[in-house]
Amino acid sequence: MNKPITPVLAAGGATATAERGAATAMPGIRVASSAAAPAVAAPAPAVAAPAARAGHGSPGADALAAALAQFDAAADDLDLDEGVRQTLRAPHRELTVRFPVRLDDGHVRVFTGYRVQHNVARGPAKGGLRYHPSTDLDEVRALAMWMTWKCALVNVPFGGAKGGVTCDPRAMSPREIEALTRRFATELEVLIGPDSDIPAPDVGTNAQTMAWIMDTVSMHRGYSVPGVVTGKPVAIGGSNGRADATGQGVVYTIEEAAGRRLGIPLAGATAAVQGFGNVGEATARLLHQAGVRVVAITDIGGGVYREEGLDVPFLRRLMQERGTLVGAPGTEPVDNEHLFGLDVDVLVLAALEGQITAANAGKVRARILAEGANGPTTPDADPILHDNGVVVVPDILCNAGGVIVSYLEWVQNRESLFWTPKIINGRLREAILTAVAAVWERADANGIDPRRAAHAIAVQRVAEATALRGLYP
Ligand code: NAD
Repeated sequence: MNKPITPVLAAGGATATAERGAATAMPGIRVASSAAAPAVAAPAPAVAAPAARAGHGSPGADALAAALAQFDAAADDLDLDEGVRQTLRAPHRELTVRFPVRLDDGHVRVFTGYRVQHNVARGPAKGGLRYHPSTDLDEVRALAMWMTWKCALVNVPFGGAKGGVTCDPRAMSPREIEALTRRFATELEVLIGPDSDIPAPDVGTNAQTMAWIMDTVSMHRGYSVPGVVTGKPVAIGGSNGRADATGQGVVYTIEEAAGRRLGIPLAGATAAVQGFGNVGEATARLLHQAGVRVVAITDIGGGVYREEGLDVPFLRRLMQERGTLVGAPGTEPVDNEHLFGLDVDVLVLAALEGQITAANAGKVRARILAEGANGPTTPDADPILHDNGVVVVPDILCNAGGVIVSYLEWVQNRESLFWTPKIINGRLREAILTAVAAVWERADANGIDPRRAAHAIAVQRVAEATALRGLYP
């Protein structure tokens, strides 16, 4: 029997820091996110005028300002037509949904979720779903734009999208997360589908989340629709290699940067990794397997350091059993600021946006900074890193392994023909190394840094597709 809805809103409205701008939508129902946006928001003026907020807004506003600054630089480099520039600068389509979920204690709480399709000129929209307390529309807009460039850079036939729900999955039970996911998937059904928009895992979501979305959509259609998401478990149509794909791609790009830019082999190098989730754990483990001495790892709960190198497979088991790395035997504690300043060959950022800024970029001593996360370095940090000789492997290249194998998963779902890990890994390697070669070549030819080169290549491809398709009607 359903329990009654009981009032849970704290006096004055907002209930926690995670619930920025919370407000009551109806009596007795808690709203878990910013509330005022219309259900389908037109591109807000903020999108057209980001500079005023750069560096001073919410994490989402800062991420959007960074994404737009990177786009503007590429548009200038390409001398982009003004009409195309305006088209590519604004998200194509945005959906905001608010939906109730019954919590384990019987209360009903209203969550806010988003899906933004930035651009679909090159194919269906593609991008992850994030469950995080600070997820907001601006963050999703930024991440959607980065997805457009990433898909174009590695030449997969997708546009860019992103989505998310403002929530703290770490504070929710598996049943609550499943209920939230199934309802969010239902709300998203106006947009998602194998031919239109294909979500995948991101921060706070994983293969199980994708399985629930695939099942929900399949229940509504009356038949299995595996191609509606990627990053599913292999048992229900997922691809071999997808779970490790982003980390594997990060390692391939690091290996190339080490070989091409520094002339050093991967084996015997040292590394530090921020983040131990989908991307960070796989990257650390694959670096360890490749003979790299991973000396430090941090996650949201703290970090571990060991000069002789960490036993990454052991830490993975510890994480699965205890949910934290902190206090692992034989390790010393380390925080992010120490990790950023470690004297290592490779620093991998695999957590969130805005980690390396003008304030701490000067402390980075690593020779290679690999952006496993999206937007971990702010634009004002880039020149400092460049002047200090740090080789930055930019996010849209570094972490593109995930979307490459997502593309292969989508193709396998369409064909109902599945490939071996060897075939998948070979295609991943070829696709990402082709993009790496194009980026370094462009950077050298134009005397620009790899991020600027990567954006120029990607924006040029999307601009070409946009121009070829022309204006409708
Ligand atoms: P995840 O939720 O699986 O892992 C995030 C990790 O970051 C966790 O270990 C968490 O503890 C850690 N973290 C959070 N805050 C931290 C802090 N302040 N200090 C240190 N660690 C912190 O997420 P994920 O899927 O691994 O995504 C990480 C990044 O990679 C995001 O930027 C995401 O957009 C990007 N990315 C993910 C994929 C993918 O396939 N999952 C693909 C491309 C890019």
